[in-house]
Amino acid sequence: MNIDKSKPILVTGASGYIASWIIKKLLQKGCTVRGTVRDKDNKARYQHLVDLTKKTSGKFEAIQADLMNEGDFDEAAQGCEVIMHTASPFIRSGIKDPEKQLIAPALQGTRNVLGAANKAESVKKVVLTSSVVAIYGDAADLSKTKNGVFTEEYWNETSTPTHQPYAYSKTVAEKEGWKIAEAQDRWKLVVINPSFVLGPSLTNRKDSTSIATMLDFLKGTFKQGVPKVSFGIVDVRDIAEAHIEAAFRENAEGRHIMVGDHSSLKGIAKKIEEAYPKKYKLPRNTINKLMSYMVGPMFGLSWKYVSRNVGKSLKFDNSKSVNDLGIDYIPFEQTIREHVEQLEADGLVRG
Ligand code: NAP
Repeated sequence: MNIDKSKPILVTGASGYIASWIIKKLLQKGCTVRGTVRDKDNKARYQHLVDLTKKTSGKFEAIQADLMNEGDFDEAAQGCEVIMHTASPFIRSGIKDPEKQLIAPALQGTRNVLGAANKAESVKKVVLTSSVVAIYGDAADLSKTKNGVFTEEYWNETSTPTHQPYAYSKTVAEKEGWKIAEAQDRWKLVVINPSFVLGPSLTNRKDSTSIATMLDFLKGTFKQGVPKVSFGIVDVRDIAEAHIEAAFRENAEGRHIMVGDHSSLKGIAKKIEEAYPKKYKLPRNTINKLMSYMVGPMFGLSWKYVSRNVGKSLKFDNSKSVNDLGIDYIPFEQTIREHVEQLEADGLVRG
């Protein structure tokens, strides 16, 4: 399946942290991008993308579309060979109504965007931004794997609307994506499953969870200590690259775990301290499990979360992303250093 790079590419959630990097790289390749935003009048949210067209040979057009509105993506998909569906709410705190805030937009959004692909004869490839949390829900799930490592063959079977609702939203949305893709044979679905994404942002937005988490570290929110929980970590620029390779490589198919490194929360603090010695009030201690049970609820961590994640390790197999998409992962140290550098340069933390 040959993709004509001169045809427009539809990217949903254009103003987002990850989508902005995807669009930057597409514009640098001279592509024409149709980027969907929720509010076209709020130009501040996507001005950075318009500005990029002045420095590149690419073109950018903002299109208003909401995940919850059926038909919103239909016109924008016409004439595109590639759709990259990144838009989905990524929130981990302040969740009062998981169905309304997370599950419905993730699921309905997938139906609407992939429905638009079905209606546009031109579409050949859809790249869906899922997550590793569609593969596992809690670190404890690792004990159920055959070889003690998460691979693309696993699905998150432990998250529910009340326990890990964000992970649940990503799982049901990706499953729906495969169901819609398998019901037709004109376009191919390729899925990117990022772990926790860090690295410099192209905007000074603070409301994206990845950026807000890094700011929490730098502003001393965690200075009393952090629970011993681990994640996969990946650079935002590697995620953007993976989307583009998934779109343009003929043989790209299936799911792709994107994990550049593994780290605990304390491990992130250690990397910041190494790059910026004595500059920030970083957590130096790990809170033990008993303490995590006690203080967890203050950070929005339920007892169930603590029991199934604190003190448990994680392991991912990222070989498919390396072999099939050619990802050469940016080192964790560089991701952290350049993320802090950007936040300082944008005046979001004291430099
Ligand atoms: P982000 O900066 O918060 O971007 C999310 C995007 O989704 C925003 O552009 C937002 O639009 C859009 N969106 C949310 N609800 C919408 C709705 N109802 N209608 C239309 N658009 C809507 O987060 P991100 O980190 O870039 O996340 C992008 C994707 O990557 C998501 O699918 C997320 O689940 C996935 N992911 C992220 C990470 C990570 O660590 N960052 C890891 C794994 C997977 P507005 O600008 O209008 O709010």
